[in-house]
Amino acid sequence: MGKLFLNCKEATQVCNKSQYEESSFLERFKLKLHTIFCSFCKEHTKKNHQLTNAIKQSNITCLDAKSKHGMRDNVEKELHKVLKQQ
Ligand SMILES: [Zn+2]
Repeated sequence: MGKLFLNCKEATQVCNKSQYEESSFLERFKLKLHTIFCSFCKEHTKKNHQLTNAIKQSNITCLDAKSKHGMRDNVEKELHKVLKQQ
């Protein structure tokens, strides 16, 4: 990834990597740059981040049936919060 402008496929890859905190600062910068002119990736990135934050905040490490249910509630709650802020 030596170039500054990513295509949509590369942008999606960085976005997915970011979810697991595996992307570098430069990669995230390039992704940000891409989303300035690509509304599709902008939406995708936004949704991905909201979901990642919601999952992080729900702080669940073990997913039995009960906590899965709780996580879904948390995700929905966080999404509502994020949407309200906009
Ligand atoms: Zn794109």
